[in-house]
Amino acid sequence: MHSYATPTHIVREIQPDVPVWCFRPERVTASAKWFRESFSAEPFYAVKANPGVHVLDALWAGGVHSFDCASDTEVELIRTRFPEARIAFLHPVKNRRAIARAYKEFGVRIFVTDTMEELNKILEETGYAKDLTIIVRVAVSCDGAALPLAGKFGASADDAAEILREARRYADELGVSFHVGSQALKPTAWATAMADVSRIIISAAVTVDIVDVGGGFPSVYADGAPPALESYAAMVEASFENMYVLENADLWCEPGRALVAESESLLCRIELSKNGALYINDGSYGALYDAVHEQWKFPKRAIAGDGRKLHGMEAYRVYGPTCDSTDKFPDEIMLPAGLSEGDYIEFGNLGAYGRAMSSRFNGFGETEVVEVQDAPWPSLYGSVGAEVVSIGSMATR
Ligand SMILES: *Cc1c(COP(=O)(O)O)cnc(C)c1O
Repeated sequence: MHSYATPTHIVREIQPDVPVWCFRPERVTASAKWFRESFSAEPFYAVKANPGVHVLDALWAGGVHSFDCASDTEVELIRTRFPEARIAFLHPVKNRRAIARAYKEFGVRIFVTDTMEELNKILEETGYAKDLTIIVRVAVSCDGAALPLAGKFGASADDAAEILREARRYADELGVSFHVGSQALKPTAWATAMADVSRIIISAAVTVDIVDVGGGFPSVYADGAPPALESYAAMVEASFENMYVLENADLWCEPGRALVAESESLLCRIELSKNGALYINDGSYGALYDAVHEQWKFPKRAIAGDGRKLHGMEAYRVYGPTCDSTDKFPDEIMLPAGLSEGDYIEFGNLGAYGRAMSSRFNGFGETEVVEVQDAPWPSLYGSVGAEVVSIGSMATR
């Protein structure tokens, strides 16, 4: 992978034609370190947040060796790349063949279910294996999540108790899990969920070996900082103490966004400036899906293509590259005045659900990846040998 000091050097030296992922491996080192050292829950990285192999390799190097996979393809990717990885197949609805392959070909032993039907699928396709870890996913409230996920998955309290009792008869290890939604801004969501789950365990009258508190841990964007990650860890750990589980029960979590959001930014080229509108080479069908569809406020800065000094600020409409008229930013964006063709916009903290959501619609979506050494974006993890930049001083040049 090519390496440059900063995105400004990329612009100066290669004037890239396709969007460039600016990869900051030390941001992954920092997030992996936090999850390993400052939180007692074992992190299973949710692969869907960013399946880029350079990101996976940085996580592995940072000591994250457990993975939350949701599909056959993710299971195969992780097993092929990391033969020693611990893989949990955590999609509540799985294809039968995918279950069988995961167990027999890829050595997966951890499976989730939220119905009796899915439990039976897992048991049948693994031949009623004696070495299964079965996790029962419970529906919980998504209070305070930017992207709530309630409704689609998770067993009701009554159903969960019944599934737990049945699963206990077959499972080597039995767990419970939940997912409070993505970018969950209230640590108390975990306290509520864990108290609910504890009551379910008591009513089921089973022993539980594992409590998996899911994903949803936040990252930091341009619209204000979430509570410190330490407050999430403290809330989860205190709630775990009060749960009705075995003395030596394990605590797991499934972070996606929080582990990788800071790992990559995207450097986009302005292809045209027309009457206060900028046409750039990534948009709603690309890595900026969330910026358009979820009105996510990614931090951003402009970089002049010709090295001139940028000053003043101006509100722009911003359009993505495809022919679809909905491929545009929902609000005007403030950027330095006088931007035109050949200038660049860098969107920061796009490492979660950016690359992952990108499509090839209309022939766009090709990108390059390069490594950079700067640290210009707000961070939840402090610095690792780089400058610390707080939200208030986000650079726009
Ligand atoms: C998406 C997902 C995650 C990761 O969510 P983040 O908000 O990125 O942390 C974890 N667990 C499950 C079951 C998921 O679907």
